[in-house]
Amino acid sequence: MDTQVGIVGGGPAGLMLSHLLHLQGIESVIVEARSRERLETEVRAGVLEQNTVDLLRETGVGDRMDREGAVHHGIELRFDGQGHRIPLSDLTGGCEIVLYGQHEVVKDLIGTRLDAGARIVFEAEAVGLRDIESRKPTIRYRHDGEDHELRCDFVAGCDGYHGVSRPSIPAEERTEYDQKYPFGWFGILAEASPSSDELIYTLHERGFALISTRSAKVQRMYFQCDPNDDAESWSDEQIWEELQTRTETHDGFTLNEGPIIEKSVVGMRSFAVEPMQYGRLYLAGDAAHIVTPTGAKGMNLAVRDVSTLAQALTAWYEKGQTKLLDDYSNTCLKRVWKTQRFSWWMTSMLHSFHDDEGFQHNLQLAELDYVTSSQAAATSLAENYVGMVFDE
Ligand SMILES: Cc1cc2nc3c(=O)[nH]c(=O)nc-3n(C[C@H](O)[C@H](O)[C@H](O)COP(=O)(O)OP(=O)(O)OC[C@H]3O[C@@H](n4cnc5c(N)ncnc54)[C@H](O)[C@@H]3O)c2cc1C
Repeated sequence: MDTQVGIVGGGPAGLMLSHLLHLQGIESVIVEARSRERLETEVRAGVLEQNTVDLLRETGVGDRMDREGAVHHGIELRFDGQGHRIPLSDLTGGCEIVLYGQHEVVKDLIGTRLDAGARIVFEAEAVGLRDIESRKPTIRYRHDGEDHELRCDFVAGCDGYHGVSRPSIPAEERTEYDQKYPFGWFGILAEASPSSDELIYTLHERGFALISTRSAKVQRMYFQCDPNDDAESWSDEQIWEELQTRTETHDGFTLNEGPIIEKSVVGMRSFAVEPMQYGRLYLAGDAAHIVTPTGAKGMNLAVRDVSTLAQALTAWYEKGQTKLLDDYSNTCLKRVWKTQRFSWWMTSMLHSFHDDEGFQHNLQLAELDYVTSSQAAATSLAENYVGMVFDE
């Protein structure tokens, strides 16, 4: 099989890239290890920043998001038993965020691509890339128990942190930056009504917690835990007690409980690889970088990468220009490091490190006090949160 752009991975990055290329008349094939059903149901990210929302709308895949997503104009930072609102829209000239699950975005993109006749090979695992330094790189993959090859002009490595694309760049040609944290996130989905109109990020002596929402009936909540915790070893009672304790306020906040329908533990890390391109291989999304989820940026950053890549490939196919392709890595990395900084800062401010006598905790409280009392500091958080400062 031959195509113009071979895409490894059908997550948000791979699907969005395929969609953007199609709108420019460029053909692509997606090789995706998992089934369509799995992709469309796995709950992950949920906060779309303004740029992502705009891009989905502008390219015709925002209708369901506009109908079913929840537009938010602020977030709450809670500490010392008190909540403080950061009015995101007021501080950013009207920018907003939309709560709409990553799997819903994926579902919309898969539907749109298949309706347009796209070739997405589900349950096809890429096992290696060949000739990425040549003009005809090849993706080798296994599907239905057989080996296949996809020859293309360019390969987009959109296969997440554990994929085959990044390791295909020779070790001596890449530098990897990896930062692990001594905690993880315990995440639950609960059948309950929303406890708040906006997201609540809270710092408590026992650690971080986040109250988020998915719909009028299903809520998403997280709390800081040991990264080695086994989710199944926590009873529902223990989970609710932990969340109730960390989110309580002096004026009596009510956290609505309900049946827990999913629970999981994810580790926390920051990761980046430089460069994000080698030969005719271009990395995008989690294949190139992982940011801590506290800033809600991972999927948004993935979408930004492929938007840059689609523009570069369009310039190459339409005008034979190589400049944007040559600049791809540098263009993305400037944004990646700004995003890493913001995500790291949010994580550092809101998680307990339990590694001192309370010095760090007091610094965190001082930082939160500053952010919630200074308009300049609150504006800085707001601009980063809605994605304004990541423009090229
Ligand atoms: C708890 C949590 C909360 C988060 N919250 C947010 C949030 O609020 N906002 C936000 O923006 N981000 C958030 N993120 C991050 C976000 O989910 C990721 O950054 C996003 O999924 C990255 O998209 P991607 O397409 O680059 O990678 P992925 O979604 O990982 O997709 C990669 C795809 O490649 C496929 N693949 C892998 N290997 C192969 C192979 N060998 N062959 C073929 N296919 C392969 C995989 O099956 C997968 O479908 C969160 C993450 C977590 C864990």
